Amino acid sequence: FVSTAAHELRTPITTIRGYLRALKEDAGSKLNEDEMQYIERGDIASLQLITLMENLLSVSRIEKGTYTLNRTETDWVKIVDECVRTFQPQAEQHGITVLWDSRAYDIPKVYADPLRINEVLNNLVSNAINYTTKGKVTITLEHDTTTNMVVTHVTDTGQGIPKDALPNMFKKFFRVAGAIEQGSKGTGLGLYIARQIVELHRGTINVESTLGKGSTFSFSLPTVDNKQVVSEDHKIILNEHGGK
Ligand code: ADP
Repeated sequence: FVSTAAHELRTPITTIRGYLRALKEDAGSKLNEDEMQYIERGDIASLQLITLMENLLSVSRIEKGTYTLNRTETDWVKIVDECVRTFQPQAEQHGITVLWDSRAYDIPKVYADPLRINEVLNNLVSNAINYTTKGKVTITLEHDTTTNMVVTHVTDTGQGIPKDALPNMFKKFFRVAGAIEQGSKGTGLGLYIARQIVELHRGTINVESTLGKGSTFSFSLPTVDNKQVVSEDHKIILNEHGGK
């Protein structure tokens, strides 16, 4: 039901957004400040609805077991680079510095679905910026040679998370009842989806946080040399093809 409803709602919402954008471009110069703000607000709300629909579709696919990965050799440092570039303007608007040094790492390629895993990183960086009022967001990488995993840490100097909320962070629809959450239109689905995506990659995700000081979200991804994960995946693909 959720999947069908989300599909059906996606088309009209996308149409509404299209018309609002057209109106903004065509009539923008003839409208007064208030009228322009109505359109802006409508545009933001329609984008929030589209994100919600996309998240509901992802949750529904995850729960049906039809959320598939297209894993390939992925240059992780390059993906982090792009993510930092995308979020830089938003961070600057918030007065937050993003610290990331791509030259510091000689990290092997990871075995991941670039689109899906990008979604995880974007969610963590976007949260780190949104739930931080001052200071910085730092991204660091680590190559664990014993487990053949690359670990990514996203650390912020933000509001932090209460101790009793920590076990719930990756649950569906969970949000801390803090001041920033009251004013923002999050869905509480981002971290749930992030966890599912990381686990589908055979990685793990966790959070450490001190209230009032900040949080670190960390997740691991297998390198392409991680024979166990790569061969397991190839076996699954072979079985799927063999079954057809
Ligand atoms: P959303 O941000 O849409 O509410 P998420 O699933 O991404 O949903 O996050 C769930 C909740 O976890 C947020 O509402 C917020 O309360 C808390 N949270 C996530 N990231 C951070 C962070 N970096 N610092 C503090 N709280 C966070």
